Amino acid sequence: MEDRDIGCTTVLFGERGGKYPQGNSLLVRGTDETAIVDPSLGVIPRRARLPRVDRVLNSHCHEDHVAGNHLFPDVPWHLHEADLPGIRSIEGFLGIFGYEGPVGTDWARALVEQFHFTPRPDALGFRDGDVFDLGGGVRVRAVHTPGHTRGHCAFWVEPEELLYLGDIDLSSFGPYYGDAWSDLEDFERTIAMLRTLRPRHWATFHHVGVLSDPAELRERLERFAAKIPEREERLVAFLRGGPHDLVAIARHRFVYRPEDEVPWAEPVEARSMGQHLARLVAAGRVREVEPGRFLAG
Ligand SMILES: [Zn+2]
Repeated sequence: MEDRDIGCTTVLFGERGGKYPQGNSLLVRGTDETAIVDPSLGVIPRRARLPRVDRVLNSHCHEDHVAGNHLFPDVPWHLHEADLPGIRSIEGFLGIFGYEGPVGTDWARALVEQFHFTPRPDALGFRDGDVFDLGGGVRVRAVHTPGHTRGHCAFWVEPEELLYLGDIDLSSFGPYYGDAWSDLEDFERTIAMLRTLRPRHWATFHHVGVLSDPAELRERLERFAAKIPEREERLVAFLRGGPHDLVAIARHRFVYRPEDEVPWAEPVEARSMGQHLARLVAAGRVREVEPGRFLAG
């Protein structure tokens, strides 16, 4: 696992380019304070050689982003106020996902055993535009980017003009809005807002790592964004052969590939595609021909 310095910021790459469950974390050093952003599983083996850390900043409350928080028990942990319930208790954390039955029970165990989930009732909330001034002109500003979770934030780091995107990861998988606390249309508004920003560097938690070429960034962002209408049109095509209910839609798979062995695939498919379904019905492109069964065309 390598590190990369960009001015006051060091990107601590996770294994395999930060592929889940790993991720890429940031260490931002000012003259007064050092902050770590989204300490991942990859921070654990690095702990002994890290400098003193004064604050933990989390882009949102998901297991892989808080997996290294427990290494810093004596410093403040900061999350957007909308995601605070997730870090305050395991029940709050599970509420973000909304999984029920055996999937929920297995998930609770994995959170603790694999991701070292540690509740922190006194974690602190921040809002869009709040700035962490680390000294010497080094600042981290929160940019609220909801959709993935309610409180998901990007961080704008000065003076490098580096925008850390968290789980807006510009991957070929596309945007993830499959949890109880995710919102498809918030995600679309977030992507539209990101198109207006002009940082010098972009960093993501997974896969892409750091991008500094504006043309490459634009292409990746548009390919990422295009997954949303692509899923929606595939749903319309499926429902032309309907009517189908949400269970059949979830089993058909639009977000994950049929061969992906993901234990939570069905609730994520149902939550993701349920949001597409609702707006297709509202737009008159899909009809509910009998209770709970939908037909397109
Ligand atoms: Zn996430």
